[in-house]
Amino acid sequence: MSAGGRDRTPTQVLVLGGGLAGVATALQLGEEGVAVTLVDRNDYHQFQPLLYQVATSQLPAEDIARPHRTIFADYPSVEVVTADVVAANLSERTLRLSDGQTLSGSHLVMAAGARPNFFGVPGAAEHAFPLYSVADAERLRLHLQRLLRQATAGDAPAAGALDVVVVGGGPTGVETAGALGELMAALHETGRLDQPGQITIVDRGSTLLAPFSDKAHDYAARKLTEAGATVKLGIGVTAVHPDRVEFDDGSEIPAGTVVWGGGESGSAVAQSAGPASGRGGRLDVRPDLTIDGYPGVYAVGDVANVPSSEGDAALPQLGSVAQQSGRWAAENILREFRDEPRKPFAYKDKGIMAMIGRNAAVAEVGKRHHSVEGPVAFAAWLGLHAILLSGAHSKADAFLTWAWDYFDRDHAATLEASSAPRRIAWSEDEQDVPHISLELGEPTSPTGEASSCC
Ligand SMILES: Cc1cc2nc3c(=O)[nH]c(=O)nc-3n(C[C@H](O)[C@H](O)[C@H](O)COP(=O)(O)OP(=O)(O)OC[C@H]3O[C@@H](n4cnc5c(N)ncnc54)[C@H](O)[C@@H]3O)c2cc1C
Repeated sequence: MSAGGRDRTPTQVLVLGGGLAGVATALQLGEEGVAVTLVDRNDYHQFQPLLYQVATSQLPAEDIARPHRTIFADYPSVEVVTADVVAANLSERTLRLSDGQTLSGSHLVMAAGARPNFFGVPGAAEHAFPLYSVADAERLRLHLQRLLRQATAGDAPAAGALDVVVVGGGPTGVETAGALGELMAALHETGRLDQPGQITIVDRGSTLLAPFSDKAHDYAARKLTEAGATVKLGIGVTAVHPDRVEFDDGSEIPAGTVVWGGGESGSAVAQSAGPASGRGGRLDVRPDLTIDGYPGVYAVGDVANVPSSEGDAALPQLGSVAQQSGRWAAENILREFRDEPRKPFAYKDKGIMAMIGRNAAVAEVGKRHHSVEGPVAFAAWLGLHAILLSGAHSKADAFLTWAWDYFDRDHAATLEASSAPRRIAWSEDEQDVPHISLELGEPTSPTGEASSCC
């Protein structure tokens, strides 16, 4: 439903953002019949953990973008407004939309997520491909498809044109590098590409997957190397050009594609909303997820520095943190309605995990983050992602079927940058089709306007 030109009844709870956090808030409040208006620039919820699958042509974008209308079909008290929010005023609990309309609520939940942070590296915003939205993943897929089609059609690519530098050794970078390594290997092994592109993953730190254990660091490096990727650690990117990357040791690598998994910061709209930005350009919240000095305002998910109940640094930007904090904010709003005290957020740590490629996954599970690898880690990855997906999808079994097939089978022969990838059998319903436009979304490189923040 679009926002244009309608008189509105006052909304009780206004939610900015329909990602894992905002959807969790709205569903929880919708269960109780609370009037909610959820605003998102896209008419769909995007499932970020599978973005790299879209970027590497292993899943169509539609399969990880679920229309909000479908998610809230059985929640009549939840209204969805598809519009860009150009300004949020936390003192007044209002959102100004790009069509000039202003929405207000008795409560406002900021769930606007994050955006790529290029840390001011020259050329990164213009030439690197971030991977934060479905539109980002589609742009990267189309770029790779163009390069690979030229090369597989027999046009000899310029030196380095098929080479890819992945910046950032966190889960996004590792998963993307693994999938790209497999893609290149498959095209080479099936005789379609004489000389596969070289994948290089770089990180300023001394390990890949820094938040994981040493065992996982070594496993990730070994698996990526086996997949043909080069791992460069302890080195920083100083400039990105359309055809090469420069490093702080004076070296450079030719690359026709640079994928940016090098960091993120709070969504742009949060930074002019009133409160001073906290660490990473995010909104600092109190233990109960409210914002100090702004009654009735909550911040959840990636846009917030969500404190850990252990008292140490803020929780990481993870799907389970977003989903649980979104739900918790709803519970606290319901407590306010009942004149009960709000409760501090208690995070249930489900562990951390990354899929490095087919048959290669790493997970740290349980309270002590016990490290596991291979099929057991994949099973943990699957369980966690099924839980995350269940917030927006009723058919978790369709995801499980697709994912087992992906992990288990050797797809090398079928992988192709231009072919129709195997789909998740969500639904045949026409209503389930999201409207994915590469024009939508917070402007990110390399489509023009840069959104580098710090
Ligand atoms: C590539 C990648 C891989 C990941 N893999 C994993 C993983 O394997 N496991 C895991 O636990 N976590 C993973 N994460 C992290 C996890 O996906 C995020 O923590 C989580 O999705 C954040 O949810 P959110 O609702 O806070 O933000 P988002 O999902 O980003 O949602 C924010 C929403 O706000 C909307 N919005 C923002 N600004 C505006 C505006 N001005 N106007 C209108 N709408 C606006 C956006 O369109 C978006 O829909 C990954 C993240 C990325 C990027």
